[in-house]
Amino acid sequence: MIAIRIENLTKRFGSAVALHGLDLKVEAGELFFLLGPSGCGKTTLLRSIAGFYIPDEGRIFFGDEEVTKLPPHKRNTGMMFQSYALWPHLTVAANVAFGLEERKVPTAEIRRRVGEALESVRMSAYAERKPNQLSGGQQQRVALARALVVRPRCLLLDEPLSNLDAKLRLEMRSEIRRVCKEFKLTTVYVTHDQKEALSISDRMAILESGHILQVGSPRDVYRRPRRKTVANFIGDTDFVPGTVRSLSGESVVVDTPVGVFTGLLGDPTSPPAVGASVTVSIRPECWTLSERMPERNGVRGRIGGSTYLGEIAQYDFRVGETLLKVYELNPRHLGQASTDLYASVAPEDVVILTA
Ligand code: ATP
Repeated sequence: MIAIRIENLTKRFGSAVALHGLDLKVEAGELFFLLGPSGCGKTTLLRSIAGFYIPDEGRIFFGDEEVTKLPPHKRNTGMMFQSYALWPHLTVAANVAFGLEERKVPTAEIRRRVGEALESVRMSAYAERKPNQLSGGQQQRVALARALVVRPRCLLLDEPLSNLDAKLRLEMRSEIRRVCKEFKLTTVYVTHDQKEALSISDRMAILESGHILQVGSPRDVYRRPRRKTVANFIGDTDFVPGTVRSLSGESVVVDTPVGVFTGLLGDPTSPPAVGASVTVSIRPECWTLSERMPERNGVRGRIGGSTYLGEIAQYDFRVGETLLKVYELNPRHLGQASTDLYASVAPEDVVILTA
């Protein structure tokens, strides 16, 4: 197991800057996700780690070894990309053996290691098939075995599941986590899919325009986004403009057009001044509906539209001119459009974001 350390990494394409002086450490054995909107620099960062791009500035370390200028084949990474491109004329076993043959590994050892790799992705029974005799998910498992068989120092995955249908994606994502943990592999995984990242990552980095906006566990990033762009990118949220009334440590009281809220600072390292304009971010599932005015962080309104989804209902909750999204698990307030209701939220679920 090795840690991957990135120091002050800058990559330009002509005059365009794809990565701006990034610093990042992926811990040994960690399943780490790079997440962000299209064009934010995820693939450029992954390809720099793999050695396909040489950065203009900065350094990359695998453990204590600097690899910044090492060509890809000398970095010993395992890779799996969106198009898994197995050789169509070779059997599953021969596809997996390919990287070992290139490395001139003795035949008996190749046979043993291919067997182990196929076993680890539960594809032993398919060793003699050709890729066109496999389902998309099975082909993806073979691609994973091919990445693992070379005993890589780290695993680099770029949208590995985007060609699969929804059901297979779900199945394969937990499979990828299982394999990474079983092999104790340091893994960097690029995706657009926030559910994929939230469900299986140890930690994630959110990128935008070549900058890292936030690094943290799925829970940290979801519950305590530091910036509006992060809150907006991960999950659903409502933003309400407000003005700081008072501050005490990380706790802030904010006046907004829908009421007074006590919440927590998204980024405690840059507290706003009293009177400053801020944005209040509240996720729809954090509200609780009731018939009585709560002691604090409550708003009075009425259900406008509603969408019933079985286990939850999604309401447009109208408070004066403002529409808030409110999700109710095990819905009890459907059909109460003409009744005044109260929605309240715990202070730890109210995130105060500065500009
Ligand atoms: P996506 O999710 O759409 O794959 P991404 O986050 O992986 O996007 P990158 O592919 O890393 O983004 O691209 C980052 C920026 O660098 C983009 O503005 C892109 O247009 C630019 N870029 C990437 N590769 C090249 C290249 N070979 N030549 C010129 N510009 C490039």
